Amino acid sequence: MAKNYKAELTGVFGQPVAENPTGVMQEAAFQACGLDWRYLTMEVSPANLADAFRGLRAIGMKGVNLTIPHKVAVIPLLDELSREAALIGAVNTVINRDGKLIGENTDGKGFLRGLRQDAGINPQGKSVVILGAGGAARAIAAELLLAGVAQLHIVNRSEERGLAMVDHLKAGTGKEITFEAWTGTYLVPSDVDVLVNATSIGLYPNVNDMPDVSLAAAKGDLLVCDAVFNPPMTPLLALAKDRGLPILDGLSMLVYQGVIGFERWTGQQAPEAAMKEALRNALL
Ligand code: NDP
Repeated sequence: MAKNYKAELTGVFGQPVAENPTGVMQEAAFQACGLDWRYLTMEVSPANLADAFRGLRAIGMKGVNLTIPHKVAVIPLLDELSREAALIGAVNTVINRDGKLIGENTDGKGFLRGLRQDAGINPQGKSVVILGAGGAARAIAAELLLAGVAQLHIVNRSEERGLAMVDHLKAGTGKEITFEAWTGTYLVPSDVDVLVNATSIGLYPNVNDMPDVSLAAAKGDLLVCDAVFNPPMTPLLALAKDRGLPILDGLSMLVYQGVIGFERWTGQQAPEAAMKEALRNALL
């Protein structure tokens, strides 16, 4: 049989990007599946993004992830957007289908997969509170709405940003969402099933920062989730754990967004266990 030395390329474009750990789990996944694929972590400035995409097309990369600051700016460079990416207004994964670049957003899908697989929760009919109104919050909120949550309440420091997100998602889904500005301590109501911190509070290096929330009234099985994955055990999750509440860390969302990306790129089932192990080893 003729030998095949051709590697397929994927990667991430971002700036700064050096601390992005996704490559560790994707490379582990390629190895576990015996695929001659690579995942390159590439520093690309906003001024060079269009050129980087010309290069991607020219060398036939299978796809890329986008991270800060490219998730919105990439949209005009693509040929097609998934319904969810259009609703969220941001792309974190590009798939090259025979020369056609398709934009997808797997952040919210990754969160939902973690909710179902790791926490054992079906979001349908649940009451959910999201802290934050940035990109992560928007992606999580959009997927929760599409999955049929009964109530979605957004709490954000900036009223303007929070209301803009709520209006955008209401218009895109026709579903009801409520909002409140985050002033002082947010007391999580007793009828809430899932609380998600989708702010950057607690993110390295500010590892002792804690969202100003009280769990005093929370029901005994409130699931407390954090999008922050570095460190995986945030002060919010530690507080919830101390109270005996179930928790879901940001590594779960990170792994599953990567699992979905791997599956879209390769068309193969992702080796989830190998990806989780590689990421936990890299971050713990
Ligand atoms: P953005 O910068 O888009 O949004 C940040 C959000 O955090 C805003 O809502 C902002 O509020 C809020 N915020 C920041 N500081 C404070 C504070 N001191 N008090 C109150 N609110 C605050 O970030 P992203 O949405 O992209 O990312 C948010 C987090 O999610 C990050 O930690 C990121 O690492 C994580 N993430 C995790 C992923 C995963 O796979 N686990 C995937 C993507 C992101 P305001 O609007 O008032 O400024």
